[in-house]
Amino acid sequence: MSLKDQYAVFGCPIKHSKSPRIHQLFAQQTDQSLDYSAQEVPAEQFIEAVKAFFAKGGKGLNCTIPLKELAWAFADLKTERAQLAKAVNTLAVQVDGSILGDNTDGIGLIKDLTENHQVNLVKSKVLILGAGGASRGIIKPILDQQVDSIVIANRTEVKAVELAAEFVHLGSVQGCGFSDLEHQQFDVIINATSTSLTGELPPLPNNVLREKGICYDLAYALEPTRFVTWGLDNGALKSLDGLGMLIEQAAEAFYIWRDVRPKTQPVIELFDTERKQCRSSL
Ligand code: NDP
Repeated sequence: MSLKDQYAVFGCPIKHSKSPRIHQLFAQQTDQSLDYSAQEVPAEQFIEAVKAFFAKGGKGLNCTIPLKELAWAFADLKTERAQLAKAVNTLAVQVDGSILGDNTDGIGLIKDLTENHQVNLVKSKVLILGAGGASRGIIKPILDQQVDSIVIANRTEVKAVELAAEFVHLGSVQGCGFSDLEHQQFDVIINATSTSLTGELPPLPNNVLREKGICYDLAYALEPTRFVTWGLDNGALKSLDGLGMLIEQAAEAFYIWRDVRPKTQPVIELFDTERKQCRSSL
């Protein structure tokens, strides 16, 4: 058996996960000795699998679709941001054996936007498309940037209204349907729907993005997503996808587990270069 500390990502599907490679690159860079694997775990097997992982001495887990809510329920204690998100993407064993649950998605997005892409969110009007698990994780970290306001628009309007109500004590947050976006303008639009995974686009009115606004798609793909292309076609100053967020949220998890902060820029550059090479070879 390996003497290295064991980490893993659980999810379903998990085959295409970039997390094992990202964490191995972080480990090499920071001289940490660890193994990080990907395991396909359907929701109904989650509790059994997570208990077995920690019983065998596993140190930390990432959880992705569809397990974040289950991981939230499983954690013995939660950080404030995980508590608010009601979703956990990082589990970590504590010295007393208890399991801490955290959500690093939101901070990953904020770091990518504000540090990697120098987007200043202060006083901006932010539109979040979608009211699923990813939206939950990013609302509080966005509010923490002293934004003017957040509007959450969702296909199923009631979900957006209910989600906004959970955060309204922390700042100006409103929920609505897509049709309510007519005649509104935003500085920053974040696509947290899963439409990019199927090549679709949420129904957005013309002029909803202010001139030289910012678009950010949480999804990432080899080619620019429909939403990234929409942003460019609609005059965005920057229209970005979620690769940077993926690497930043992984770095936060690595820091929680190892107490060492890896440099994200070399990993983002490597993935970006590989993506360009892959595109040009098609
Ligand atoms: P969920 O399944 O929890 O939520 C999906 C959301 O998309 C819902 O609001 C749903 O609306 C909406 N939606 C789905 N299909 C359509 C459609 N055809 N038209 C309009 N809206 C639609 O997914 P997650 O929140 O977990 O993930 C959302 C995205 O964020 C995914 O692309 C995921 O890959 C990405 N992500 C990226 C991360 C990163 O690190 N870069 C981290 C986490 C997520 P409704 O409520 O009406 O069904």
